[in-house]
Amino acid sequence: ELILAVETSCDETSAAVVRGGKRILSNIVSSQIDTHRRFGGVVPEIASRKHAESITAIMEQALAEAGVSFRDLSAIAVTQGPGLVGALLVGIVAAKSLAMALGLPLIGTHHIAGHIYANELVHELVYPCLALVASGGHTELVLLESEGRFRIIGRTRDDAVGEAYDKVARTLKFPYPGGPHVDRLAQGADDEIPLPRAWLEPDSYDFSFSGLKSAVLAAINTAAMKGEPIREAALARGFQTSVIDVLTTKAVRAVREFGAKQLLLCGGVAANGGLRAALAARCEEAGIPLLVPPLQLCTDNAAMIGAAAHLKYARGEFTPLDMKAEPGLSLEDWSVVS
Ligand code: ATP
Ligand code: MG
Ligand code: FE
Repeated sequence: ELILAVETSCDETSAAVVRGGKRILSNIVSSQIDTHRRFGGVVPEIASRKHAESITAIMEQALAEAGVSFRDLSAIAVTQGPGLVGALLVGIVAAKSLAMALGLPLIGTHHIAGHIYANELVHELVYPCLALVASGGHTELVLLESEGRFRIIGRTRDDAVGEAYDKVARTLKFPYPGGPHVDRLAQGADDEIPLPRAWLEPDSYDFSFSGLKSAVLAAINTAAMKGEPIREAALARGFQTSVIDVLTTKAVRAVREFGAKQLLLCGGVAANGGLRAALAARCEEAGIPLLVPPLQLCTDNAAMIGAAAHLKYARGEFTPLDMKAEPGLSLEDWSVVS
C-alpha cells in the first residue's frame, strides 16, 4: 500500500509518499514563512496563491524522491480540515484531480489526526493512549481508546498554546512565528517573573491561556510606560513555566484517570525544548511511556497525513470525490467507523 498525501491547510505546501502508514518514502515540505513574515502572520489569500503555484511540482518531487510512479499508488490522501478554507481547497482540488485521473480512492484526512499519527511513523502505538496536541491553532487532550477513535477530553477555551506564544513574541518584536524565539529567550533566562496559572475547575481538562498572555503583555506595556527596562527573558521564562506546568500536570492526570498506556506529544509546540524536557521528567517520575515525534514531523507535513489516512485505507473507508474543504472538521467525527 502506497499513499500519496497532500497537506496545504496553512502555510506549508507538502506532499509525501507513505507505505502502510508507517514508512516515509518521501516527505517534501515547502514553507511559505519567508513570504508571510513581513505581514507578521499568515495572509490567507497569499497562502492559497503560493500553494497553487507550487503544489504540482511538490507532488512530482514527492513521487520522484520516493522512486515511485503514479501507477504504483494505492490512494490519494489530502487534508480536508481544519485549516484556512482557501488553502485547503488548493490541496483538495489537486488530490481530487489525481484520484479521478488515476481511478484511485480519495481519503479526506483530519489535520489533527495527522499531528497525532505522526507518532506512528516512528513509534508503535499501544491503546488506550492519550495525545497532548499543542499547535498553532489547537490545544487538546485526546483519548484514543482504540486505533483511529478520537475522544476530546479537554480543549482550550480561548487561545491555543502556539497562538499565545506567537502573540507574546510579537509584543517582544520577534519575527513570525515567534514560538521558537520565546522558547530560546526563556531557556537562557537567569531569573523568572512568576505568572498565574489557569487551572479552571478542579476536574477540568480544559485549558485557558489568554489570561496568562494578557499578564505578559501588561507587564511589558507597564514597564515601557514607566520607562523601566523590560525584563524580557524573565517574563518569557515565567510565561513558559506557567504554560508547561498546566500542560504537563493535566496530561499526566488524564493518563492516570483514563488508564492510558502512553502519552503522545504532538503539534508544532512539541518542538518546545522546555516542554519536552518537563514532560519527559514528569513521565519518567510517573512511569508513563512518552512518545514524541522528531522535530520535522511535529510541524505541518504531509507524511503525517499519510499516516492518519492509512487508518481509513485499511478499513476501506474512502471519501466521495465531491468532498469539500471543511475548515471546522470535527476530530471525533473523523474517527474510523469499523
Ligand atoms: P494547527 O495544527 O492547530 O492547525 P498549525 O499547523 O499552524 O496549527 P503547527 O505548524 O503545528 O501549527 O505549529 C506551529 C506553532 O508552533 C506556531 O504557533 C509556533 O510558534 C509554535 N512553535 C514552534 N516551535 C515552538 C517552540 N520551540 N516553542 C513554542 N512554540 C513553538
Ligand atoms: Mg505552519
Ligand atoms: Fe498543524
